[in-house]
Amino acid sequence: MQPADLDPRSRRPLAVLGGTFDPVHIGHLRVALEAAEALDADVRLLPTGTPPHRPPPRASAATRAAMLEAALAGQSRLTLDTRELRRAGPSYTFDTLSELRAEFPARPLVLLLGADAFAGLPGWHRWRELFDLAHLVVLTRPNHGAALPEDLAREVASRRVGAAAALRAAPAGSVFELAVTPLEISASALRERLAAGGDPRWLVPEALIDSGLLAVYRRGAP
Ligand code: ATP
Repeated sequence: MQPADLDPRSRRPLAVLGGTFDPVHIGHLRVALEAAEALDADVRLLPTGTPPHRPPPRASAATRAAMLEAALAGQSRLTLDTRELRRAGPSYTFDTLSELRAEFPARPLVLLLGADAFAGLPGWHRWRELFDLAHLVVLTRPNHGAALPEDLAREVASRRVGAAAALRAAPAGSVFELAVTPLEISASALRERLAAGGDPRWLVPEALIDSGLLAVYRRGAP
């Protein structure tokens, strides 16, 4: 039997959107869905355990994962991957992509990054090696179109491709900018709104509100 990875259908990219998801919101879900469609990819949402590049999330890993699970209910296009929550220590994307590469030796892997996260890439652990492991697809985000740091601009200059289809030609190494529906929604603004007693409806999926988890989150339970 052929390893799954050598099956021609597995040339479909596997894409991951990592983040704290503290909490998950419509911005995450919508851009992930648009990436799935534009790249014809399977997309996994990958909550980070201990983020190395920012203060600890407000909610525990278990709560953030439970909120994601509730948000994703009833559809199959986007799935949840909790591998970083099971790993001790800081959640380095380098380690996560290395694990996925071991599982899928030849399949195109895609790291999805909002434009804000992409601009901060040079601060990441072993960031230049990420291009050996995956393609990078940058999702446009309102108010985050600024110029890139020089070392990043230099690194990506020769890697840019103009069409999503080009990502199937190799397992890793290219950079593609995907224009997604601009949604000026962020978890930090949502946290402020919740703290002020505001109604989060239509900024987060209905299923998350119905799950009751957001009400628990608002009260500050872990
Ligand atoms: P915070 O406000 O707490 O920083 P966030 O809303 O940016 O949170 P994260 O969980 O940090 O959410 O984001 C995970 C990934 O999703 C990042 O790559 C981020 O750039 C991207 N992302 C989040 N919201 C959007 C959005 N509205 N449009 C495009 N990309 C987004």
